Amino acid sequence: MIPVPFDYAAPRTVDEAVELLGQHAGAVVLAGGQLLLAELKLRRSTPPRLVDLRQIPGLRGISRHPDGGLSIGAMTTCAELVAHADVRAGARALVEAARVLGDVQVRNRATLGGNLACGHPAADLPAALLALEATIHVAGPGGRREIAADQFFVAPFHTALKAGELITEVRLPAPPASSGSVYEKFSHSHFYPLCGVAALVSLTEKGTVAKCRVAVTGVSLHPLRLRSLEAALDGQAPNASNIAAAAGKAGEGVIFVTDPFASNEYREHLTTVLAERVLARAVGLAAPPKA
Ligand SMILES: Cc1cc2nc3c(=O)[nH]c(=O)nc-3n(C[C@H](O)[C@H](O)[C@H](O)COP(=O)(O)OP(=O)(O)OC[C@H]3O[C@@H](n4cnc5c(N)ncnc54)[C@H](O)[C@@H]3O)c2cc1C
Repeated sequence: MIPVPFDYAAPRTVDEAVELLGQHAGAVVLAGGQLLLAELKLRRSTPPRLVDLRQIPGLRGISRHPDGGLSIGAMTTCAELVAHADVRAGARALVEAARVLGDVQVRNRATLGGNLACGHPAADLPAALLALEATIHVAGPGGRREIAADQFFVAPFHTALKAGELITEVRLPAPPASSGSVYEKFSHSHFYPLCGVAALVSLTEKGTVAKCRVAVTGVSLHPLRLRSLEAALDGQAPNASNIAAAAGKAGEGVIFVTDPFASNEYREHLTTVLAERVLARAVGLAAPPKA
């Protein structure tokens, strides 16, 4: 199908983009187009104006702060995330999530901001960002603000973004000492996961768990942290039995959904299995075997 006619604008700054969005109720941002172009062609989205972010230099790129934290521009593509040395070194969970998102063509176009903003309940990158305790920076008619990742995902296809706001960047805190982070997903196709789980684990000098963050996507109304599991492993020795016991709590407090691809029971099972796997891998990275 052919999209309904729309006005097109390609601003050079974030402020200009915000102004252009504000001029037309229903105007939307265009990033990598991997979701939006299909929506336009199917006429599920009929915006009066597209505000193309690709000409705004400040929205792209990755920089490392002196404290080891990372700033990642909203227009950074999945392929760029996977290739970047600082992301690979400090945010492995995000690299592992970006690496399995869609296929090569999709990863070359799809952006970090687009994957978050679409609010898809099974999007891959949100799980990694929740585990890494990211902060999402946005700009809009009310100015600029920051939203913690665990406040950002609200309902299916619904985020904390207000009308006229756009994501400018994502900030990741420096990884804790002796830590590792990973992501794994299980899909019925090559694409969106039935279940994807990310974990970050850091260890004390004694080898007990100093911090554990685990998040899931694809199983509920939106990506979310698994707080009962996190609490169960906190302060414990990260051995196989404690990891299995903590993973057994993965489903506590989660409303698992059923759809034509999987039942809620199967999604809960996948969450437990993947949680155990990612925790074991994250612990292995946090405390590599001594030579
Ligand atoms: C074949 C195929 C396979 C896919 N497989 C997966 C998969 O396995 N896992 C997965 O998670 N996704 C998958 N996707 C979905 C898709 O790649 C992502 O959702 C994509 O990351 C969207 O980013 P984009 O830059 O292309 O956004 P666009 O399509 O340009 O925009 C998507 C939405 O986000 C809004 N938006 C974009 N950027 C911003 C911003 N900076 N601020 C505010 N709003 C913004 C747009 O207005 C639009 O509503 C797949 C898509 C395709 C076509």
